[in-house]
Amino acid sequence: MSDCLFCKIAAGEIPSNKVYEDDDFFAFHDIHPKAPTHVLVIPKFHLATLADATKEDSALLGQLMDRVRHIADEVLKLDAGYRVIINVREGGGQVVFHIHVHILGGKRLPF
Ligand code: AMP
Ligand code: ZN
Repeated sequence: MSDCLFCKIAAGEIPSNKVYEDDDFFAFHDIHPKAPTHVLVIPKFHLATLADATKEDSALLGQLMDRVRHIADEVLKLDAGYRVIINVREGGGQVVFHIHVHILGGKRLPF
């Protein structure tokens, strides 16, 4: 989607602090980290929000969670654990409307 911030980051048109990339997914450090490690994982395919996902997106969402696990465990090495968050729509705190998974770690997180 041409006017989407995260589509542009995934395409390399806007710079980011990249931690992982493959053919279908991209991960980068959040610009306003809420924990010592705060990374966003996005599909290169534009899907605005989890609430818009359909059965056709099931494989994509499964692969997204597999990449989250891989990035947290094997790239970021958050051995002590981490938190995974998807904010959905405005009421859930979503600001950027390209689906993304937050990985937060690097300290013991309060509830
Ligand atoms: P959300 O509130 O779930 O939509 O999260 C959007 C996240 O994107 C926020 O944590 C922002 O700090 C982060 N963010 C916004 N613009 C950028 C950017 N250019 N590079 C990295 N992270 C960004
Ligand atoms: Zn997008």
